[in-house]
Amino acid sequence: MSQIDDVIAKVKALDKDQPEFIQAVTEVLTTLKPTEEKHPEFVKAKIYERIVEPDRVIMFRVTWEDDTGEIHVNRGFRVQFNNAIGPYKGGLRFHPSVNLGIIKFLGFEQIFKNALTTLPMGGGKGGSDFDPKGKSDREVMRFTYAFMRELYRHIGPDTDVPAGDIGVGAREIGFMYGYYKKIVNEHTGVLTGKGLEYGGSLIRPEATGYGLVYFTSEMLSTRNTDFANKVVAISGSGNVAQYAAEKSIQLGAKVITLSDSNGTIVDEEGIDAKKLAFVMDLKNVKRGRIKEYVNEYPHAKYFEGKSVWDVIRDEGLRVDIALPCATQNEIDESHANALVKNGVIAVAEGANMPSNLEAINIFRDNKVLYGPAKAANAGGVAVSGLEMTQNSIRLQWSREEVDNKLREIMRNIHKTSLEAAATYGYPGDYLVGANIAGFVKVAKAMLA
Ligand code: GLU
Repeated sequence: MSQIDDVIAKVKALDKDQPEFIQAVTEVLTTLKPTEEKHPEFVKAKIYERIVEPDRVIMFRVTWEDDTGEIHVNRGFRVQFNNAIGPYKGGLRFHPSVNLGIIKFLGFEQIFKNALTTLPMGGGKGGSDFDPKGKSDREVMRFTYAFMRELYRHIGPDTDVPAGDIGVGAREIGFMYGYYKKIVNEHTGVLTGKGLEYGGSLIRPEATGYGLVYFTSEMLSTRNTDFANKVVAISGSGNVAQYAAEKSIQLGAKVITLSDSNGTIVDEEGIDAKKLAFVMDLKNVKRGRIKEYVNEYPHAKYFEGKSVWDVIRDEGLRVDIALPCATQNEIDESHANALVKNGVIAVAEGANMPSNLEAINIFRDNKVLYGPAKAANAGGVAVSGLEMTQNSIRLQWSREEVDNKLREIMRNIHKTSLEAAATYGYPGDYLVGANIAGFVKVAKAMLA
């Protein structure tokens, strides 16, 4: 048995209440098997066993008061997973599904994603089971203050730099950064995703979605094709989905779907720039639900209780490019089979771990261009890294400068992934390539 098999078995036994973490470890470690032979020094130093164990897990109580004066108690988390190559870096997720296993899976993935960006960032993740949906601004403010009242002592610009994720956007980062600054009295840039007026970077809001489309374009170019006139299915309607749609439209594609946790809209005429502006206002300003799209555009269809992938499967929609930008495990084997049957060329992950293990294998077996999350959505954290750089040198780069750097980073991740895949015997396999390229860098740093 290889050390990797032993480690997977150990995680399955020790963390049996953490299915998402087991899934992420199994997916990554299985693809790392070719490194055991090439790097006996990793085996000797037990790097595989070390890398699945977080440096530390911080769990805390968050007590806050709602607008009626009732007290609520939520759970807060920060998992500082690995800082071999730089300070811990990764987002905060506020969603009722958040638990230790979910934060560990996200933190584990973040290690390799961050390594792929070429910037010096370790892996971490945090969040809470607090549900921002339906809360007033003042309730969100009180919750975030209470959250930061504990988190501040564990983070720092050279220690651990949180950012946003699901449920944590500009509003939440603003509240948390302001409160942190009050406590420590230092303008250190300790969070990324900040507003432009107080240390944020241009292109950070767009970065994950734009980066996803840049990465997908690179994959498509290996088959001499591009986004022009392609039918694109996007799930989600938050930050990642919005800017993935914007860039796809700019490149001449026809985006036909968006969704939220209640349902999916399909607009077969295509969601153009004007319709997307409506969605952005609906979601970001009015904090409304995606079903309101059909009130504005009655020719579109709304499918209550169905995901984008359910609708594609059940309605037999033809799709060229699939960009899952909602959440983990949104694509199962039935969805993957339907996508393949309906002609998908490329699947690139804007969300973290949106495809389950069976779905991934269906894409790989059918020669679909499959861009795994840690490569395809790394643009977000990459621009977070550039925000840290700008804070350190106390300058703000132009939109064009940051966008060019983002494009270059995504091109580089694509190239590095393909090179690692070829070197380790899996030519063209982005999953193996991205996992190995990210891992080898971190492993060498751990060894050193
Ligand atoms: N939450 C994002 C991710 O999954 C961004 C993290 C960051 O910017 O630190 O990579």
